[in-house]
Amino acid sequence: MLSPNADTIAAIATAQGRGGVGVVRVSGRGIDALAKGILGNLPTARRATYRNFLDENGNVLDQGIALYFPSPHSYTGDDVLELQGHGGPAVLQLILQRCLDLGARLAQPGEFTRRAFLNGKLDLAQAESVADLIDANTSEAARSAMRSLRGEFSAAIHELVDELIYLRMLVEAMLDFPDEEVDTTDLERRDELLNNIRLKLLRTLDSAKQGSLLREGAHVVIAGQPNVGKSSLLNRLSGEDVALVSDIPGTTRDVIRQAIQVRGVPLHILDTAGLRVSQDVVENLGIARTHQTLHRADLILLLLDASQGMTAQDEIIIAGLPADIPRLLVFNKADLLSGKAPANARTHGSPVYVSAITGEGLEDLRGMLLEAVGWRDQESGTFMARERHLRALAQAQTHLDQAQAVLAQAELFAEELRLTQSALNEITGEFTPDDLLGEIFSRFCIGK
Ligand code: GDP
Repeated sequence: MLSPNADTIAAIATAQGRGGVGVVRVSGRGIDALAKGILGNLPTARRATYRNFLDENGNVLDQGIALYFPSPHSYTGDDVLELQGHGGPAVLQLILQRCLDLGARLAQPGEFTRRAFLNGKLDLAQAESVADLIDANTSEAARSAMRSLRGEFSAAIHELVDELIYLRMLVEAMLDFPDEEVDTTDLERRDELLNNIRLKLLRTLDSAKQGSLLREGAHVVIAGQPNVGKSSLLNRLSGEDVALVSDIPGTTRDVIRQAIQVRGVPLHILDTAGLRVSQDVVENLGIARTHQTLHRADLILLLLDASQGMTAQDEIIIAGLPADIPRLLVFNKADLLSGKAPANARTHGSPVYVSAITGEGLEDLRGMLLEAVGWRDQESGTFMARERHLRALAQAQTHLDQAQAVLAQAELFAEELRLTQSALNEITGEFTPDDLLGEIFSRFCIGK
């Protein structure tokens, strides 16, 4: 079971800084000799024992718990030794250095998890979710990374692949017969299977998109005329004074970005320079940047002044917004209306009224923002997915669509199914090129 090149790797597995306990983790072939050197002997497998950690002269470097997990029942699948000492940076460095002196080499980022992947302990989607779980900033993101780590995402992919293989077998068998001999029940079975797979893929893609939203967040750009209260709204949403608020139109000349969380979903809110015709060179640079930012948004929050209603200037701004990006129209300064309808309530879509000063309407706005970026509270929960997974799923979908289009041409159909399967296999890492693996694991922290 041991990896063929399982040289011994070591790293501090706990976070940098001071803590009650710090862990040095070692994995690979040379554990036996290394344990003799630092502990006197190899501890009993999977039993926590209190030990002295010794230097080369037998002096005690630290005291703590030693844990030995022989292959294959370990995180990496190779032999693993964990030394749990006191969590100070200097003492952990001493323990690590001792392991290096005893023949281990410093592990690269993510190398323990990479070995777990190579030894078949985890598939690639699960290995990625280890890093996502560690990086999760919200409880929602952590829960969904854990679901992926437990294999829910991989199971959905495996199920799809199994059904694809079944369909491919059916089609390959049909290929061996001339058209007139193909049984109509086989054709019906083929159509039914293809349909099932398409539906299942759609559902998986949908859940994965939710997971990706939890991981990457969505970019919401606040746009509108100067002085409608864009900076004030950003401050309100984020709960701090991040943007400069003033009465002089045109104060926010650069793009200000603030990450907020709404019900566990990260939203990157960008406040932009007000859009208007200006003679000011610096302001015009800001406006040009606003237009660039708008094109990269997942959602545009167009802010208007409720006391003014929709003005001709607003109409011009709306006409200039990128057509393919969803937008939410929001009237700010609702506190100035005191129950009166806005001066001019002509809107595109249903308007939302808020006040950045009193906070009225903000809870509703948060809910609408989530809905507009595509978040749905799901009972079954999402699984963590990355951009890479979404691309692979989309590619699988394209091939399935093409398969449907060439249904009558059995050879082409079979080929599209094969391509669908290899796109899906990329997610779990069955056929993943080495450089992609390198790229994925290099983003891990050291010691994981
Ligand atoms: P921006 O140029 O769109 O970023 O607008 P600011 O956030 O700088 O706000 C412009 C002015 O409008 C400031 O004096 C704010 O205090 C005021 N303002 C912002 N939001 C509201 C609101 O909801 N109600 C009222 N009455 N005034 C507001």
